[in-house]
Amino acid sequence: MRETGATPEGNTHAGVAQMEAVFAALRAGSAQDRTPLYATRMDRLRRLLALTVQHQDRILAAISADFGHRSTHEMQLAEIFTTMSAIRHNMRHLRKWMKPRRVATPLHMLPASSRLLRQPLGVVGIIAPWNYPFHLAIGPAAAALAAGNTVLIKPSELTPRLSQLMKELVGQTFAAHEMAVVTGGAEVGAAFSELPFDHLFFTGSTQVGRIVAQAAARNLTPVTLELGGKSPAIVSADCDLDVAAPRMVFGKLFNAGQTCVAPDYALVPRQRVTEFVQAMQRAACAMYPTVADNPDYTAIVSQRHAERLERLLENARQMGATVAPLTALEKETSAHRKLPPALVLNVNDGMSIMREEIFGPLLPVVPYDTLDEALDYVNKGDRPLALYWFGKSGAERERVLNETIAGGVTINDAVWHVAQENLPFGGVGASGMGSYHGEHGFRTFSKEKPVFLQTRWNAFGIFRPPYGRLFDRAIG
Ligand code: NAD
Repeated sequence: MRETGATPEGNTHAGVAQMEAVFAALRAGSAQDRTPLYATRMDRLRRLLALTVQHQDRILAAISADFGHRSTHEMQLAEIFTTMSAIRHNMRHLRKWMKPRRVATPLHMLPASSRLLRQPLGVVGIIAPWNYPFHLAIGPAAAALAAGNTVLIKPSELTPRLSQLMKELVGQTFAAHEMAVVTGGAEVGAAFSELPFDHLFFTGSTQVGRIVAQAAARNLTPVTLELGGKSPAIVSADCDLDVAAPRMVFGKLFNAGQTCVAPDYALVPRQRVTEFVQAMQRAACAMYPTVADNPDYTAIVSQRHAERLERLLENARQMGATVAPLTALEKETSAHRKLPPALVLNVNDGMSIMREEIFGPLLPVVPYDTLDEALDYVNKGDRPLALYWFGKSGAERERVLNETIAGGVTINDAVWHVAQENLPFGGVGASGMGSYHGEHGFRTFSKEKPVFLQTRWNAFGIFRPPYGRLFDRAIG
């Protein structure tokens, strides 16, 4: 299948007209049942779980074919297990999350009472990227369904087989007024963002996130933007590299670095750079003894993305960087786009590898002399989606946490904060706005409606004209 901006049904205009009809059915669905019962929501979540469990082999085969090759173990973990866990988490807590919250009422307003009602927003739009194409579409959809919304998903055109399969499976599992999938590229995405959704949830690049936010603003549609950026991994002077290196290699080379929260560059104490390089090489060789034909090593998603990474490396080399391969050099035999992982040394800020999000198995190493210098380096860039710190000193860890701003943090490991459903996941500044996962997702897709319940007998009469002495006493 080729990469295309049009829908598989034919031309983009036909696709857009069809999309509007699909949207209208979902709008009618949410108008017909504005606040679905617990049982209705549970039934939808059960069907979503069954779709994931029963069709996992087809889902994994489609994703792997779209990538050229993708590690089955990685997909089982990051597409199926994480999605099932997210759906089950919603199911486990749904009853509690749906309950109205009682809120304290100040003394002078008693005996009235106050509560917060969590209501569905209506129709939620979800635009998903290609890097975890199933999980990043179905995970947010589970939260939106749990919150009682109807849902329209637009997956990425770079994973056409998976997108088509999701459309088929969602079509078989859900009624047209509950949830649907529309397929297509940037043009369909642009038309999608202009639909009058009650909430638009976008996962993708910062560049496209800006366009989506502008389109949504015209309808005053609130957005959650789950974007990317350059996530630093800070290695402390007291870090045990034998422990840290395998963890950092895991976070970097999972999905061949095509992970929004992968460490994008490592800040390493200058006197420990050689030791760091050696520890990373040992760890990478142990995890990936070969690369080209290793079933655990994932391919780069498209020729265009592989060439972009080659260009980043070439530009860095031309500007004086050196490349330290992370795994044994081997003759390329794979038919797929397997890019050998490498550290990039002697980098500077003029290089495109230090300006763009890398999104591949290349890790620049930035030496530092003092912690202040490392923190300044992080803080002079855009606010990152993730930040990692590897070390022992509690005082230093607290300084790093207090003096940097990032979407989320894992201490002494990489990536794992994302898998903790009880922690909100989302960026800040250029790495995004809003968050989801667990109850945070439920709240993102709900209107928390404040309700003030007045009683028949109360003292509010003193606040009405003609104002008297009791008024002066009450507010004095
Ligand atoms: P992308 O921004 O190119 O595309 C994302 C989605 O937007 C796709 O479905 C695409 O078809 C659609 N799109 C493209 N142009 C559009 C337009 N003009 N209007 C509306 N929609 C449009 O991103 P990508 O290449 O698929 O994914 C990689 C990026 O996503 C990286 O920057 C990565 O960091 C980020 N990402 C973030 C998270 C997160 O949770 N924060 C997760 C995964 C990926």
